[in-house]
Amino acid sequence: MTVENGCECPRCIIGECTITVNPRTGEEDVLCQSCGYQKGVNIRRDEKGEIILKDSTKPLEKDNIYYDKYEVQAPYGMASYMPKIGGIGHMFPLRTFENYLEFKESIEKSKDDLQQAKVSRFTEEKIEVEILV
Ligand SMILES: [Zn+2]
Repeated sequence: MTVENGCECPRCIIGECTITVNPRTGEEDVLCQSCGYQKGVNIRRDEKGEIILKDSTKPLEKDNIYYDKYEVQAPYGMASYMPKIGGIGHMFPLRTFENYLEFKESIEKSKDDLQQAKVSRFTEEKIEVEILV
């Protein structure tokens, strides 16, 4: 995996995107840490997570697999939290308002164990940060 930080977010402009590339598979993910914008390239897999081959009689090689582009143009935002113990923060995008409600609910349940939790989102040309804990 190669990770590159600091490219401009095409959605909110203010935020910085992280680009994660898997050189072995060619999969790529772009994620904005401020607004949750996401795009990338994924290998097509079946419901079990197995890679789908164009020709199943041929080996698993880059030209024998399907690549699908995806883009989340209007995500709800970006969630992050830091537990009191361990000191490792977690960050993940919230695609929808429902995802935000789920995150809020899980934070409410475990807030005694958290040092910090917040949601950052892009609204009307600026980034708003909601502190939950
Ligand atoms: Zn952004």
